[in-house]
Amino acid sequence: MTEIAHYIDGARVAGTSGRSQPVYNPATGAAEKSVALASTDEVGRAVASARAAWDGWSRMPALRRARILDRFKTILWERGDQLAEAISAEHGKTHDDALGEVTRGLEVVEFATGAPHLLKGEMSENVGAGVDSHSLRQPLGVVAGITPFNFPAMVPMWMFPVALACGNTFVLKPSERDPSASLLIAEWLTEAGLPAGVFNVVQGDREAVDALLSHPDVKAVSFVGSTPIAKYIYETGTRNGKRVQALGGAKNHMVILPDADLDMAANALMGAAYGSAGERCMAISVAVPVTDQIADALIERLLPKIRALKVGPASDRSSEMGPVVTRAAQEKIRALIGQGEAEGARILVDGRDFTPPAGCEDGYFVGPTLIDGVTPEMSVWREEIFGPVLSIVRRKDYAAAVALIHAHDYANGVAIFTRDGDAARSFSHEIEVGMVGINVPIPVPMAFHSFGGWKQSLFGDHHMHGTEGVRFYTRLKTITTRWPSGLRTDPEFVMPTLG
Ligand code: NAD
Repeated sequence: MTEIAHYIDGARVAGTSGRSQPVYNPATGAAEKSVALASTDEVGRAVASARAAWDGWSRMPALRRARILDRFKTILWERGDQLAEAISAEHGKTHDDALGEVTRGLEVVEFATGAPHLLKGEMSENVGAGVDSHSLRQPLGVVAGITPFNFPAMVPMWMFPVALACGNTFVLKPSERDPSASLLIAEWLTEAGLPAGVFNVVQGDREAVDALLSHPDVKAVSFVGSTPIAKYIYETGTRNGKRVQALGGAKNHMVILPDADLDMAANALMGAAYGSAGERCMAISVAVPVTDQIADALIERLLPKIRALKVGPASDRSSEMGPVVTRAAQEKIRALIGQGEAEGARILVDGRDFTPPAGCEDGYFVGPTLIDGVTPEMSVWREEIFGPVLSIVRRKDYAAAVALIHAHDYANGVAIFTRDGDAARSFSHEIEVGMVGINVPIPVPMAFHSFGGWKQSLFGDHHMHGTEGVRFYTRLKTITTRWPSGLRTDPEFVMPTLG
């Protein structure tokens, strides 16, 4: 069985901890590979390699660093299919969806190639007599990224292109469920000319994460994953003196006002709820139609579309939705649907009954599920299901829809469908959620903007990529300068002021 290795100091390195775990193909349930799980010592080697590479990398002119990333971008364009295949084989998402993730990640690489511009500081001449002041942003040192299973290429690319462009070196700890993408990325970075040690990968579980969180040479940690782990990472990392941004889970609502284009809203919901089997932190998992009449009309449009959705393995390029990632995820999703039913919701389409296509009988499939009559007391509303399950919570007016959204602990993304500009403007102004879509179901910000939620969906002060990413991965230095011609001769014992 192939063992998926670490990548340290510019090369693949086999695991030496004696610990590993199987990596499954979610479409068939077969354990096709195993992944090494790093020990604290192995993490230490990766950090030491990144620390040794930092001096040279941080001193390299920013434009040279950007050119290496630009070559990596070209490789990604050319080999996107190969990366997408590696993702689908371990995550289960369809090929085109995996290719979409690669493209969204690539856009951050594109953004990072412009980092020399973003690293320019500010300058004020004559802040005092003969005194000038300028500020600049410097890299932090070795930084770490800990990433989830659902975007094994895109989420690491939210982090490392900006971190590297700013002059940091990087240690990535990808998800142990779909680890292969990280190695392709590491090899292609090396091929693009990245010096050994600037980008390292340690495969692993909690032991590797804890080793990164406690290592004194790791200056910052970027995390994306579920909320309980995000909270743990934020609390432990900051206690250890690190800068931390930790993005957590989500429960994203879509409000459909009575004046919305219902065909547009139904199509948007299909992709947003069932694309990637609902395993997206920006998936819409709750539709909030305003008035019963709109709820009924929406359901009427959704039902035939859901029944026609083609569920199958990524190897069948006509599949529109794949399996979920693990047996445990499949069981959890089925159990939550059952709980919703027991709590009094109406299961209009039941994905628990789904029969997988031939050859995929042991795959982790859950069919698209639609649940009506959901209320805020039910676990299907409170919990992040992270599967192809769309709940309908009916509300009588706009204010009740907003109150529902505000009652949830998560605040990652939200959407409103309406033709009323006034309502849309009020919504985007008052809603307490980090990313808002107006007639856009999945408002994932582009690379040159920044990604992040509010409340329990993000711990820390910085969102990811864009200018927020540059701020996170650099620290500000301000330099005040006076040359001898401006020098005062008398000693001064009071706080210097302009006078
Ligand atoms: P997860 O929290 O289980 O794992 C994320 C990372 O943390 C992995 O690298 C994993 O190895 C590590 N980890 C897991 N348990 C740990 C522990 N006890 N101690 C230390 N490290 C641990 O998340 P997941 O299941 O891989 O991903 C799905 C979750 O990620 C969902 O909740 C989803 O909403 C969230 N997510 C959020 C965003 C966002 O931008 N807010 C984006 C993508 C995914």
